[in-house]
Formats: sequence, structure tokens, C-alpha cells
Amino acid sequence: MIWYPYAQMKTLEPPIKIARAQGVHLYTDDGHDLIDSVSSWWSVIHGYNHPEINAAITEQLGRFAHVMMGGMTHDAVQRLSDKLAEWLPADLDYCFFSDSGSVAVEVALKMALQFNTNRGSARDTILALEHAYHGDTFKAMEVGDDEDYHFAFGKNSEKKHGVVHIPTDIPELEKAFSEYGERLTCFIVEPLLQGAGGMRMYDVGFLERARQLCDEYDVLLIFDEVATGFGRTGNRFVADLVLPDILVLGKALTGGYIGHAVTVANRRVWEGFLSDDPTHAFMHGPTFMGNALACSAALKSIELFEREDYLSKIHTIENITRREMSGFSDPRIKEVRIMGGCVCIEVYDGKMLDGFRRFAFERGVFSRTFLKYMYAMVPYVISEQELVTILDTMKAWFRR
Ligand SMILES: *Cc1c(COP(=O)(O)O)cnc(C)c1O
Repeated sequence: MIWYPYAQMKTLEPPIKIARAQGVHLYTDDGHDLIDSVSSWWSVIHGYNHPEINAAITEQLGRFAHVMMGGMTHDAVQRLSDKLAEWLPADLDYCFFSDSGSVAVEVALKMALQFNTNRGSARDTILALEHAYHGDTFKAMEVGDDEDYHFAFGKNSEKKHGVVHIPTDIPELEKAFSEYGERLTCFIVEPLLQGAGGMRMYDVGFLERARQLCDEYDVLLIFDEVATGFGRTGNRFVADLVLPDILVLGKALTGGYIGHAVTVANRRVWEGFLSDDPTHAFMHGPTFMGNALACSAALKSIELFEREDYLSKIHTIENITRREMSGFSDPRIKEVRIMGGCVCIEVYDGKMLDGFRRFAFERGVFSRTFLKYMYAMVPYVISEQELVTILDTMKAWFRR
């Protein structure tokens, strides 16, 4: 028996069985052709079954699939870390690989904490955002702020000690720093776009102010770009606009082929672990970190991203989305939000989204709403006509 994610197994609607997938199309066992509006949790940016990524993986597979990073290294992981170091802004050069976004967030938080203990500082508090989502492991849940995912702590639970949550509001940010600044190890944010917390979008000015305050109070700034990285906000990385000290990438890192993630530190953080004291070493090591198939897929994914000018594709997706959504409204809709390759319709009452999955399915679209949010995060290779089909389907739900 498969235990499915975020699902009450007693009442689970049977999942759609996929037989094959090509480009932005999912083909079901029983002959349906669906345009994917979710990119398999925002990761499949090049679409499915991409010949070049397939070939890169096959080539690596002919040599070996995996060797551990404890005491060994290999060409694919070296080339990927070199590429990331060269490609990412400033001195975000030091790559710690892991197998999922949640683990990479754990790594970032642990790095920030130990960076401080290594220098003899007793800082003990983490600053995070309201409605944050950073993954489903325990520390990631603690810095997260979404009661619907995180029953384990309840609402405003005492158990979340050591984490302070603030809204994306500059006066609140300033207040938090004046109150807790001396005690903060780090400030972790999903920059510009908060994904699983409800596709909430906010202004870069907030991040600029956060950078200033982090400098002033000597606090590490962590960008969790697991969702926003690789173009989703219309920027290559939000880190291109405001520079964090630690950057977390996942989801689209391998083009959605193989679960992999990376926590990238800047030089100062890296140097905080260099020491003659063995206890200053970073004690972490996921079994599948630096997996050779994942690294090969990631290298090819980045090559495609650059070579095929994905930022202009994403810009086109945003323009089409704005055009199609302009003038669209409904009294049941609270807000329509658009940023880069993300569009979200927030409704007042999530119940009115019940049945949308079926409705979309019948119109040849795969969609998955959550809570009060109907959204699309499409593969960047989508055609205009396919994108319009998705957006028309979303709008049609309100015109039944
Ligand atoms: C999805 C997500 C994660 C968790 O990644 P997994 O690979 O599912 O563990 C962490 N942070 C953000 C912002 C995400 O969107």
C-alpha cells in the first residue's frame, strides 16, 4: 500500500496514473492527455523526457550511478560545484549537496548555528517569516509557519521556542531586529515568493532592508530558493538582486529528474568552519549527497537554462499570464497574483475549489489546488496555446 502525501487515506481521491510524459504533457494509463500546470511540484522546468537530460544521465549511468562522498569524489559533482560557484553571484561558492530541499534547509540552519558556536557566540534565536514553508522535517517545520502542514506544533505552540516569526513588513522587521538582533543566528526567508504558504508575493525592498539589518547586527541571511530558484520569480535567482550569506536550491536543480539539493555558503561562512579544532568541522553527510546521476542532470539542466535563454521564456510566460488575467475578477476571489512563472488565484473560501481537479482533468489540464489557492507554475517550455488553455480552465471554473 502506498501512503500518499498530504492526504487523508480514508477519503483519498484515486490519484491519476501516468503511463508516460513528454514535454508539458502527461499521458494517463487510460488514454488522457493532460497539460501539466504544476511542473511536478515546480521542478520539471524543461518538461518531461527531455532528450538531452536523458542522454546526460544515460552517459553517467554507463560509468556509475552513485559513489559516496565520504572519502571519494567524482567528475560530475566537481563540475557541478564549479559551475554553481561560477554561476551564482559574488562569493556564494561553497556547495554542500544533499538529497532534498528539506534536508538542504536543515543543513543551512545547522551551518548558521554552528558558524556562531564556532566563533564562541551564544546566539540562540532564528528569525523567520509568517506563512513560511521550508520543508517537512522538524527544524524546517519549526522555522515554517503554516498550521495546515505543521500540526505537530499546533498554532503558536510553545514548542517553537527559539524561532520568531514576522510578516513581510519593514517596520515589523526593524522592530524584530531591535528586539532580538543581538540574539539572532540567522534570518531565513523564501525571497519574494512564499510558495507553499500560499503563493504570497512581496517587495524586494523588504529584502534590501533585511540585508542592511543583518549586516548591522551581524546576522546570517539565508535565502531558501528551493522554489524560487532557476527563474520562477522572473529573476534567475532572487540572490541576483539581494545577496544572502547562504543560499538553498532544490526542486528545479536537476530539472525535476532526481531529488537533489544544495546549500551554498559564502566565503565568510566557509571560513567560519576552517580551524585546527576538529570540533569546528561541519558534521553532516547524507548518504546520497552528490549523487552522480543527479549532478549530471543538474549540469545539463543549467546548460539548457543558459543556452535557451530561459529568462526570456519566463518573461513571455509572465506577459501572456498578465494579458489573459487582465480584467478577470469574481466576487469569490480575494486576489489574483502573478510573478514570473507563477500565477495564483486566492479565493475567500477554499471549499469553492473542491472539484476543480476533476473539472481541469476533463479539460485536459492537470492541476492541484491547496487550501484557498488555485495556481499554475508551468514548465518553462510551454507553448502560448498550452498556457492559455491552463489559464482559460482556471477562469472557466468561476464562470460555471
Ligand atoms: C519544496 C520546498 C522545500 C522542501 O523541499 P523537499 O525537496 O520537498 O524536501 C523547502 N523550501 C521550499 C521553499 C520549498 O518550496
